[in-house]
Amino acid sequence: MSTAPDVSSPLRRAWLRELGIERVWSATAPVQAASPAPNQAEVQSAVEVVASPVASSAVLAGVAAPLAAAAAPAAIAEEAVQQEPIASASPPAARTGAGRMGPAQVHRDALASLAAAPKPSATPPVTQAQAIEWASGDPEAAWAALQAEVSTCTACALSKGRTQVVFGSGPRSAQWLLIGEAPGEQEDRQGVPFVGRSGQLLENMLGAIGVQRAGGDVFVTNIVKCRPPNNRNPEPEEAAACRPFLERQVALLAPQRALAVGRVAAQNVLGTDATIGSLRGRVHRLALGGKDIPMVVSYHPAYLLRAPLEKTKAWHDLQLVSGIGEPQ
Ligand code: URA
Repeated sequence: MSTAPDVSSPLRRAWLRELGIERVWSATAPVQAASPAPNQAEVQSAVEVVASPVASSAVLAGVAAPLAAAAAPAAIAEEAVQQEPIASASPPAARTGAGRMGPAQVHRDALASLAAAPKPSATPPVTQAQAIEWASGDPEAAWAALQAEVSTCTACALSKGRTQVVFGSGPRSAQWLLIGEAPGEQEDRQGVPFVGRSGQLLENMLGAIGVQRAGGDVFVTNIVKCRPPNNRNPEPEEAAACRPFLERQVALLAPQRALAVGRVAAQNVLGTDATIGSLRGRVHRLALGGKDIPMVVSYHPAYLLRAPLEKTKAWHDLQLVSGIGEPQ
């Protein structure tokens, strides 16, 4: 996979600009190839400079000020205290003292960890036989039936406070699955996941790696389909009550890859209480709905709005998930 993204897309440029590395990547882009392209080590070096706390606060000051002013929902504030300290959170290559390893090497290493990744401890309640049964007959009818069932669900107390169920958005043919935490106020009102500012950032993030939400590349959903009161984290029993729906979604979508955003979603689908700092940056196996799908964990966009310096790490995560299945 190419590590220097094509910056001809305005969305991608916007995201790289937010990272403060647009100029670095642009210099490698074919459309602006007037000057000699820096080699991988130079690009990585520039990324590491941006990632360092001192340099990045200077580079990103213009971005950080307006974005950091966003109010922090309780759930996201809680996620923030679980982050690695910024100073210790450089990409794996830098952390392990591997020198100026290029992004391609970082990704190769992370992808190599895929085979060794531990299986989630929680055994998925859905068997492969069930998944095949759902998906065999008429998958479109099974999808429609699932939507109808979810829309009238009363399996947990969240159903009492909702305006409407937020099933998810995107076509069943989508090759990407994005898993968030729970609908918020806007989502509950509109019946669509990830709308508002974090939804916009999410679209920019995905657009930066060429994944168009509006173009139907991704199915976006949450671990719970109803809004928790006051945007609190979903309780374990609420997530458990909703899990069969996510399982059936995964069984019917059969996505090529998944991205879980935020600590709550990641811990829930992986059946772990590990910190998001330790979960991100590598490829996991998502064992859901009888499927075994490569999945990367990254920061929640609402957290990134509050902590823009972490976007550099999110960018690495996006490149990692984007590289899944590509020849190394
Ligand atoms: N945050 C989420 O995790 N999901 C949404 O749908 C909206 C905000």
